Amino acid sequence: MNEFDLIAKYFSRRTAREDVLLDVGDDAAVVQVPPDKRLVAAVDTIIEGVHFLPGAAAADVGYRALAVNLSDMAAMGAMPAWMTLSLSLPSADETWLAGFATGLYDLADRYAVALIGGDTVRGPLAITVQIMGLVETDRWLTRRTAQIGDTVFISGEPGEAAGGLSILQQSLPQTVNAQRLIQRFLRPEPRVALGRTLRTLASSTIDVSDGLIADLGHICKQSRCGAHIDLEALPISSALRSCFDASKCEQMALNGGDDYELLFTVPPERLLTVEAAIAGGVRCTPIGRIVAGNGVECFRGGDRLAIEPRGYDHFS
Ligand code: ADP
Ligand code: MG
Repeated sequence: MNEFDLIAKYFSRRTAREDVLLDVGDDAAVVQVPPDKRLVAAVDTIIEGVHFLPGAAAADVGYRALAVNLSDMAAMGAMPAWMTLSLSLPSADETWLAGFATGLYDLADRYAVALIGGDTVRGPLAITVQIMGLVETDRWLTRRTAQIGDTVFISGEPGEAAGGLSILQQSLPQTVNAQRLIQRFLRPEPRVALGRTLRTLASSTIDVSDGLIADLGHICKQSRCGAHIDLEALPISSALRSCFDASKCEQMALNGGDDYELLFTVPPERLLTVEAAIAGGVRCTPIGRIVAGNGVECFRGGDRLAIEPRGYDHFS
């Protein structure tokens, strides 16, 4: 199968989105951006052996390639709309491609994201998705606007994905709880709806891809402030607790990547509004506050603990 057959067979599905004026098949795609919206763009590459395990199921790889990008839209408070896909493949393996397309389109359909173009080359297995979304004029979220006195929240139960990865890597027994963690690693749920809710309420947001401390550190650096985390407030899931001891759970919650939860800050005067707005959605837990200074510090009771951020850095 040649490059063009491959694109035609797997990546040329027509979209129901009426704002796609021209998609796969031309030199570039054309979309309609409403006059009262801003275009929000992000790109993420996933590489075999770095972002997913060698030999991972193709459908899980397809899902992940889009999920990590949807998570970036969530962190901006944006509605995802369109994507392009750059695929580097060692060979045109049709079984793999069919699985990959299934995982990718399953998630794309759930969020009404249209695949509008891409590029296909032979090379080591690597997948780049560029996502584009829409946000109301002047209403996007950023990392740079946290204020001293804001409360720090985390969605979901951080550390579960790191637990799942560890279970896969060490081939630990696959109990029901272990399977839950593996699922959280393989199929992270992008928090798009939460991001939309927070858009007018949070003072800053980031999605946790590198680790909670590392990503909160990015908010601190860009907002020129510090943060305190109350370790006793960390929401550690019962599934994670059942698979690892308490100290390992805490480490995974603080430094594990791949959760794709939202970390966000809320000013004191909006706390009640936010709690009402997010009730009924994904669980969100207050875990600390923004303070003067710089960097992230962790406390247990009144004691400050030295915990080194060990977030992922490709070049460290
Ligand atoms: P060009 O030579 O102009 O770069 P290509 O031959 O790379 O065009 O691609 C042909 C068409 O197929 C383009 O419209 C491109 O957007 C689309 N395309 C290529 N690869 C993919 C892919 N993996 N997914 C979706 N669309 C793709
Ligand atoms: Mg090309």
